[in-house]
Amino acid sequence: MIIAVDGPTASGKGTIAKALADHFNLPHLDTGLLYRAVGRQVALNGGDPDSPADALAACDFSDALLDDPILRSEEVGGLASRASIHPQVRQALFERQRKFATQPGGAILDGRDIGTIIAPDAEIKLFVTASVHKRARRRWLEMTGREIEISLDAIEEDIAARDARDIGRSDAPLRAAADALVLDTTSFDREQAIEAAIEAVEGALEQRG
Ligand code: C5P
Repeated sequence: MIIAVDGPTASGKGTIAKALADHFNLPHLDTGLLYRAVGRQVALNGGDPDSPADALAACDFSDALLDDPILRSEEVGGLASRASIHPQVRQALFERQRKFATQPGGAILDGRDIGTIIAPDAEIKLFVTASVHKRARRRWLEMTGREIEISLDAIEEDIAARDARDIGRSDAPLRAAADALVLDTTSFDREQAIEAAIEAVEGALEQRG
């Protein structure tokens, strides 16, 4: 069984995907991390994420980079968002994601285009979303908890810019697959979001028989 979990930045899709992976005992791939590694590698190469050639060259990152905590930073998220616009980059990362999705026994992947491009054949597709304000607030709480000083407004602006890039790009734009279950987590806390996702998946599995 393939479970695809898509959605915008800070929607809670990563938390939900991890919880579903535990619940259904499936291997999980956070595909955003691959794009973040490309963004980080562009910077390490002294390249420009807006240049298709520099971004493509950065797809040759080492697996060790995936464990670097710096990938989780806002700055690298922004670089990833810019590098991920280029079709060459998406193509270079396709096979790795597709192989993970189709491994025997199934898998769960979260990202932006799992249900539409990487695994349109996924048995279950979830599209997790929440208001920009709520997503910014979550990210702000998380960052101030790590003692990073940043204003809520700055985060909200950054999230809105990232949404616009992810939704507006011509190759693999962020959108819910026609057959995705949409889960709006705006009014949910972490536990409620996880519970709602497990319920949605179990309901869909029951319907499929
Ligand atoms: O999900 P995360 O915030 O880690 O992703 C970082 C960036 O990578 C996103 O803003 C998006 O532009 C890009 N991305 C993508 N396709 C994916 C996963 C992430 O374009 N499947």
